Amino acid sequence: MAFFIDTHCHLDAPEFGDEMPRIRARAAAEGVGLCVIPAVAASNFTTVRELAHAQGDAYALGIHPLCTGEAEDAHLDLLDAELSMRRDDPRLVAVGEIGLDYFVEGLDSEKQQRFFHTQLQLARKHRLPVLLHVRRSVDQVLKHLRQTAAGQPWQGIAHAFNGSDQQAQACLGLGLKLGFGGAVTFDRALQLRRLAASLPMHAIVLETDAPDIQPHWLYRTQAERNAGQPQGRNEPGELPRIAAVLADLRGMPIEALAAATTENAYSALPGLRGLTGLSAGRPPPA
Ligand SMILES: [Zn+2]
Repeated sequence: MAFFIDTHCHLDAPEFGDEMPRIRARAAAEGVGLCVIPAVAASNFTTVRELAHAQGDAYALGIHPLCTGEAEDAHLDLLDAELSMRRDDPRLVAVGEIGLDYFVEGLDSEKQQRFFHTQLQLARKHRLPVLLHVRRSVDQVLKHLRQTAAGQPWQGIAHAFNGSDQQAQACLGLGLKLGFGGAVTFDRALQLRRLAASLPMHAIVLETDAPDIQPHWLYRTQAERNAGQPQGRNEPGELPRIAAVLADLRGMPIEALAAATTENAYSALPGLRGLTGLSAGRPPPA
């Protein structure tokens, strides 16, 4: 069976509740050998670390742009301290989820940028890759990446990528990989599908962003929801089926796509490479 890595999966989301172990087991049965669980706020740093250790997965620490509203400046110091403390934790693979969101209205743009910029500097300081949330903000994100690059290429992933071809090339030029998930399963996502089909293979990693970004087979339209059907809940176990859509778009066998995207995930997040042989279930270092 093919081996897949879900490079972006919020397994700690309240939507999963106590079903989470079953959901993770189902993903494993489908071939998803590793999940990367990004933090979104200081309040879930411990949760994602413990989850990653309990299940044999990986985690990232950071403050999500949509959480910067409630975040305090002290949380940046806390992140810095936590990154120092976890330096030898093999399951900590990136700083994330960090970035800029200009889609959701009512967020303080200056504060978002300040948090993003500081967290990029922390990633540099702690020599970790980045997991980037980029929504209606590719050019701004690129600007901050260039400002903090210190002459070195970046490592990491622009997650749920949905920019232009030119913006994709700019991200690749900085050293990033681009994360593709459920959005490519929609026939009407013409530009995104064209991009996913035409990018060089080394550019692409897979993700579900579960419980969000449902693939089309789980998505319920407003009309369906009005008729009483609940919105579908995405899970890491959907990754192979999403990968099959992508393999089809690119005209390649799914086994080859799985192998290439796994290698790309290792190259974007080198810490993942050592985890495949590491057994799960040990308590995390305190
Ligand atoms: Zn996310």
